[in-house]
Amino acid sequence: MAFIKHRNENPLKNVMPIMAGLGSPQEMVVHDEQWHTENFVWGNARVRRKGFWTEEVSEQWTNTMESMRTRLLSCYNCPMKCGAAISVDTRMCSYMMKCFSKLTYTMAAFSDLEFGLRIAQKATEHGVDAFSAPQTMAFAIELLEAGILTDEDVPGMPSDKEGRFYWLLDRIVRREGIGDVLADGTYWAAERIGKGAEEYAHNCIKKTEQLPLKLGMLNQMYFLMYCTGEKANITQIEGNFPQAPFPTREEREDFTRNWPHVPDERFKQWFEDWELRGENSIPNYPSAEASCEIVNWQEKMHYIDDSTGMCAGLSSFPYKPPFHIHNLPELISAGAGLELDEESLTHLTRRNRDLVRANNIRRGMRRADEAPPADHWKRRFPELEEKLLDTYYEFKGWNLEGVPTRTSLHELGLEYVVEDFRERGILKADEEVVGQAATSEGSES
Ligand code: SF4
Repeated sequence: MAFIKHRNENPLKNVMPIMAGLGSPQEMVVHDEQWHTENFVWGNARVRRKGFWTEEVSEQWTNTMESMRTRLLSCYNCPMKCGAAISVDTRMCSYMMKCFSKLTYTMAAFSDLEFGLRIAQKATEHGVDAFSAPQTMAFAIELLEAGILTDEDVPGMPSDKEGRFYWLLDRIVRREGIGDVLADGTYWAAERIGKGAEEYAHNCIKKTEQLPLKLGMLNQMYFLMYCTGEKANITQIEGNFPQAPFPTREEREDFTRNWPHVPDERFKQWFEDWELRGENSIPNYPSAEASCEIVNWQEKMHYIDDSTGMCAGLSSFPYKPPFHIHNLPELISAGAGLELDEESLTHLTRRNRDLVRANNIRRGMRRADEAPPADHWKRRFPELEEKLLDTYYEFKGWNLEGVPTRTSLHELGLEYVVEDFRERGILKADEEVVGQAATSEGSES
């Protein structure tokens, strides 16, 4: 593991601090939160606060973390120490935290890190997640401010911003009053509340809350990842390809010089040619075809990790991890006794991927569900977006509704899925989609 230690002592240049090393994003060690606090949005995924990260805030938040973080922690005997024990009042009672949960309550409530670490202890002890819960609470505050919820809906709620979050957390975990409505998340709560609340549940994909991020220009790769990902959040798909181009060709070539992780040399070229501005920038570059390949590669790596129990922090998530598509087949073969090479491992990944999709298709998911939040990017391109979905579906062996075709299911040895789809009327002999009404498990998804 010496190479892992070495890599975090020599972080990558040109990438945000939490992504510069290995492991899960190093939120417990990195104090510089300018990138998150100024690029992600606060409240109910609403407000971007440029200039928020001042020296004073930096000093205050660093002191908070250093006084409340009692030690760094790893999963099992991993040397990376991505998590930390946080102790807010007494060093006798601590909880484990890692990654972006450090900031989700802070930013949802427009508060500071001390509040975020304090409420996260209660939330962690109650077992609620750090993404949906704070966004749902911020959603409730917006509904109150808009008059959609009234004082009668929140009897006894304190008036200060931190107190309101503690009050909401208690109601949600006990499913009391408005907490019972909010406990299902923003989409379902909005449906029950009505009165225009639906407009405020604006940061969901497939009815699940997403990263609080609002950007300017459509990015083809991220459009595909957001739309077609089967899992709850984009972090389950994004990974080895840098999230943005580096400023100069020289810097990009320096990055690709030592990049054995890519499936083939085209991926290096796509990154080297990717510019911040001009013809080779978003939304036109990378092309739809290149974006399909890049998304597919990143997704493949995550599906390998998921099925082997490998930590994404050492494989599918960082930019230059120790484990990648060229050494994982041998590693998995050694551990599992399976005869695997890249082709057969890729085949298994496709099979897993299509099985996950098949399950969601049975439950009613279709193309119409594969959409990012309407306000995720300011500048949208409906025709390009339709073309992207068409191209990706074809690339994956799915029909225009996103249903795996009979041919691709056959190639993957999933004849029983073909049979199931046929019985439910999802696939006809010519592989057309009949419609959601024909599914027997309803359309709740
Ligand atoms: S297993 Fe993964 S998340 Fe856990 S400490 Fe190691 S690299 Fe970090």
